[in-house]
Amino acid sequence: MRTISMPRLEIDLDKIYHNAHTLVDRLACRGISVTGVMKASLGSPEIARVLLSAGVNMIGDSRIENIETMRRAGVAAPMILIRSPMLSQVDRIVTHADLSLNTELDVISKLSSAAKAAGRKHGVVLMVELGDLREGIMPADLEDTVRQVLRLPNIALRGIGANLACHSGVSPDTRNMSELSALVDSIEAVFGLTLDIVSGGNSANLDWALGGADAGRINNLRLGESVLLGCEPLHRQPIDGLYTDAITLIAEVIESKVKPSRPWGEIAQTAFGEKPLVTDRGNISQAILAIGYQDVDPSGLQGPPGIEIIGASSDHLITDTGHCHLSVGAEIQFQLNYSALVRTMTSPFVTKVLKAPQSER
Ligand SMILES: *Cc1c(COP(=O)(O)O)cnc(C)c1O
Repeated sequence: MRTISMPRLEIDLDKIYHNAHTLVDRLACRGISVTGVMKASLGSPEIARVLLSAGVNMIGDSRIENIETMRRAGVAAPMILIRSPMLSQVDRIVTHADLSLNTELDVISKLSSAAKAAGRKHGVVLMVELGDLREGIMPADLEDTVRQVLRLPNIALRGIGANLACHSGVSPDTRNMSELSALVDSIEAVFGLTLDIVSGGNSANLDWALGGADAGRINNLRLGESVLLGCEPLHRQPIDGLYTDAITLIAEVIESKVKPSRPWGEIAQTAFGEKPLVTDRGNISQAILAIGYQDVDPSGLQGPPGIEIIGASSDHLITDTGHCHLSVGAEIQFQLNYSALVRTMTSPFVTKVLKAPQSER
């Protein structure tokens, strides 16, 4: 009799602790602190507590809803909203987040009014554009923006940051990180202040940060994927000494039959508008699992050896199981990439099972 619902994510908190602690340690040697990024964790207070016990100094999330979830569960650590705030959410942001990453004066000015009304002070980290072309103030505009931010009541300018490798895949390297350090030096000199946070980027910065180069003024990284999946996002290579299986997905077989590999009839579009790839490999062992686009990004799944994903629709994952016949009801375990992880974590149809033997902690 099965009592655990399907599909499910199995989340090994000890392995996440190990990954976070290892990265915190390695980066501490380079003078860099870690903000634990929770955006793939749907604000799980258990995961936040694991990251904090592993030594991250702040929790970051891209959604205020997740920050509110953690606050409601009593997570008291400093929290930073890592996506530029929506004007429509400034009240919630100053209430629940201590800091936010920002690029727009209009937004910071509304955060200032909201913070004033709430009798609070809100910390701001200004994001600078270094070439990846997602969020960031153009470097030439930074000084002027800082001047105006410093005039706003109830706003504390806490630091400067950058984000690379998200929109255009631009790699963090000595050149762009030195540019960030130089901008920090120049802002401090012009305004006679000290910025306590210089947040150089995300998991894609690890090659640069651990490669032995001088970290310059960078004293913080915001890490999500590397902690949860144990791999770096530039080439999706496993990071030495980290677990890549801290989170796995289990799905259940609902049909298993020998079928021709070649469809018959007139071929038009598939459920998702793609043109189907028609190949003829003779008869194959085909198994269907009860998971689909509603739950996961199927292209980000890696099954056990010998099980190949050949298609997916909203609720079905179709696999070629080679020489192996799976029985109906069998549980199949998958590794996930970041895209698949984000989707499964946020799907209400996927149960999250936290495994927490606490052997290491
Ligand atoms: C998602 C995100 C991060 C974390 O990125 P990972 O690659 O998961 O480490 C850091 N900063 C910002 C602004 C982000 O949006």
